Amino acid sequence: MSINKQIHLVSRPEGAASADNFRLVETPLADPAQDQVLVRNHFLSLDPYMRGRMNDAKSYAKPQPLGQVMQGSTVGEVVASKHPGYRPGDMVVGAGGWQQYALLDASVPGVLRKVDATRIPLSAYLGAVGMPGVTAWYGLTKICQPKAGQTIVVSAASGAVGSAVGQLAKARGCRAVGFAGGADKCAYVTDTLGFDACIDYKAHADSKSLYQALKEATPDGVDGCFENVGGVVLDATLARMNAFGRIALCGMISGYDGHPIPLQQPQLLLQSRLMIQGFIVGEHMDIWPEALAELGALVAGGKLTYRETIAEGIEAAPEAFLGLLKGRNFGKQLVRL
Ligand code: NDP
Repeated sequence: MSINKQIHLVSRPEGAASADNFRLVETPLADPAQDQVLVRNHFLSLDPYMRGRMNDAKSYAKPQPLGQVMQGSTVGEVVASKHPGYRPGDMVVGAGGWQQYALLDASVPGVLRKVDATRIPLSAYLGAVGMPGVTAWYGLTKICQPKAGQTIVVSAASGAVGSAVGQLAKARGCRAVGFAGGADKCAYVTDTLGFDACIDYKAHADSKSLYQALKEATPDGVDGCFENVGGVVLDATLARMNAFGRIALCGMISGYDGHPIPLQQPQLLLQSRLMIQGFIVGEHMDIWPEALAELGALVAGGKLTYRETIAEGIEAAPEAFLGLLKGRNFGKQLVRL
């Protein structure tokens, strides 16, 4: 009988998450029942939202249950099926979790979807042509609503979401300015992704110096802010926003792992008459087909660039996830299973 290696959440973090919160579990592999599909997961997506699910706290989604497989998106290959829509050999994206094999009920909407891995690499369905890409597309086009000639600022600019935001903004004729941690990430953001400027926030000792760098990179102010991080970079961006600027509040990763992140100057929202909108991409399923069509065409045509950091093996997932929360990833964080 085959064995399925899984990662379970076994305790909730007090403060920062640690490897002790997870446990590797080996379970026997079961055959599919009616409507179920057995998938050999090839890649697991590690995403910042998973940190919030580790807490037993009020949020937009239920907490990850203790003693169960960590939830998460995967891409892989069907190896057995008792659902008429799937056959062995089909490549799929789905909610496979932190495990080598997933038994999924394909009759439940949103659980499994076939993908074409001939035009687009399979792993991209977890990044640029998946949830992070759609997140970038939604926040930029529907909330920031960029117009040619405007300036868009995005934090965590080298990452899965941020890298797509800047490239989509450039494709719409905007000036794209990123924040990223480190000279290597910033060089990638400008030289490979084509942003107009990128600010290494780690190279600035105080908020005055960070603001000055942003001012130089945004001579006409900021019209749209796509916020992924919060904290000092959001403070600097708020101070550079033009009147009636628009803020897509996508993420605040600097506050996810047990640190509160106060807003230094909330009065700027009033003074600059800003629009700020938080959003969760999974609540906007109506726009996914349009977004995926544009993202898929751009990736297949080589016009949307992305980068991946791949951890090897299910055992490596907890450390890779903790690294994501500290910015050790460079581009979309995946685990090869
Ligand atoms: P990334 O690939 O961008 O990886 C996370 C990056 O965040 C790190 O590489 C690091 O970049 C930065 N980071 C990590 N910790 C900190 C910290 N303490 N302070 C500052 N920066 C930090 O991840 P994603 O693209 O998947 O996600 C980006 C954001 O988008 C997250 O906030 C996430 O929660 C959010 N998101 C929201 C969705 C929604 O529906 N609202 C959906 C998907 C993602 P660097 O080294 O450059 O600092």
